[in-house]
Amino acid sequence: MTHKIAIVGAGPSGCYLAQALLKARADLGVDLIDVLPVPYGLVRYGVAADHQGSKAVTRQFARIFERQGARFFGNVHVGRDVTRDELRSAYDVVVFATGLAADRRLGIANDAAPGVVGAGAITRALNGHPDAGPLPDLGARPLIVGNGNVAVDIVRLLGKLPDELTGSDLGPEQTRWLAESGIEAITVLGRSPAAQAKFDPVMIKELGKLAGVAITVDNAGTADDEHGQKLLDALAAIDGDGTAARTIRFVFSHVPLAVETQGGRVTGLRCRTVQGDEIVVGCTSIVTAIGFEDIGDLPRADILAQADSAAPVYAAGWFRRGPRGTIPDNRADAQVLAADILADLDGVSAGPERPGGTLFEGPRDVVDYPGWLRIERRELAGADAARCRVKICDRAAMIEAACHAEETSS
Ligand SMILES: Cc1cc2nc3c(=O)[nH]c(=O)nc-3n(C[C@H](O)[C@H](O)[C@H](O)COP(=O)(O)OP(=O)(O)OC[C@H]3O[C@@H](n4cnc5c(N)ncnc54)[C@H](O)[C@@H]3O)c2cc1C
Repeated sequence: MTHKIAIVGAGPSGCYLAQALLKARADLGVDLIDVLPVPYGLVRYGVAADHQGSKAVTRQFARIFERQGARFFGNVHVGRDVTRDELRSAYDVVVFATGLAADRRLGIANDAAPGVVGAGAITRALNGHPDAGPLPDLGARPLIVGNGNVAVDIVRLLGKLPDELTGSDLGPEQTRWLAESGIEAITVLGRSPAAQAKFDPVMIKELGKLAGVAITVDNAGTADDEHGQKLLDALAAIDGDGTAARTIRFVFSHVPLAVETQGGRVTGLRCRTVQGDEIVVGCTSIVTAIGFEDIGDLPRADILAQADSAAPVYAAGWFRRGPRGTIPDNRADAQVLAADILADLDGVSAGPERPGGTLFEGPRDVVDYPGWLRIERRELAGADAARCRVKICDRAAMIEAACHAEETSS
């Protein structure tokens, strides 16, 4: 009898874990379960549409299903369609790798005013997530709060000219939104000094290649370590770059204090400067890119406590560690977790055969791996010279594509 393992969440951490488990023990039954009808989590719905190189990791993940025998059960919301208890009785081991999808709020006065938008909400909408809301009107002068790579992704996409998006998988609606945004000036503001920002210097340097923007960097300061110096060098390389009418301005060492509004619209962000002065940085909208937390559909604290106990419940990826780390970071993490799970299973007999994936049988439209491939083929068939795929963004349309065999031309 083989051990059956349910991994909830088919993002990078779930996929890397399945890969490591099956590499060590090919006889395991590993099922990846996702609320979405498609696998790969933030690789599909977070990584920017113009960074197809980063999205190419999905080719590696595909091998888990195609060669290593993992199964995909998409369109299954754990906590709603099946309970945690049901999963626990259907599998020998349950791993939660469900990520952290809610945007962290600023935690200052007026931080939920209309015109304050989370970066995750925007990146999901730009990536055609089926549950994303409409793309917001950011006005002519959006201000992005945050000093990490997600902030850079947004500023880069907002700053790109239509031609610079060739080869991406940005959808038609999203392309139109960017082209018609009316944006004139973008401010990127952070509370830490430049040398302590979390930007990847390579991502900063990429901004220097944008043809349609002029970039300035205020009060970058000095660095006292190698990473900080690399960052300052990257910022210095883009500072003053370009003569375009649209501008990007980086502002450091400003602590947000309150969102200023007038007539229900955002007019600025009140901040404290490093000198202790209070100033208002004017803007037409605020995009918060300061991290993520759980959306609360699963009791994270309870699950993490269980994962620390002797129960056959584990947690992986961002859900376990918090919203830190890149896609490859999840790989190293998954290898350690796989070793822990295998050590815990060592010598434990699988007991009576567990139902495993039969739990998901029934009236629900569950999407399996071949179903995902049908969605993908339809998306790729829509590609043209400007776009590498045309994503299906509507859940019902995804399920229709997944569940209906393509017509073959004779
Ligand atoms: C906007 C953005 C851009 C990024 N860009 C990059 C980049 O360019 N390069 C890079 O290396 N890293 C990037 N990262 C970081 C990278 O995406 C993360 O390191 C990685 O996705 C974390 O993997 P995860 O599997 O823990 O979570 P996720 O990728 O979030 O996967 C979680 C999965 O769980 C599913 N799920 C959630 N709740 C349930 C439920 N109740 N039932 C069933 N399924 C559920 C979700 O649908 C999702 O598929 C980016 C992150 C963000 C937010």
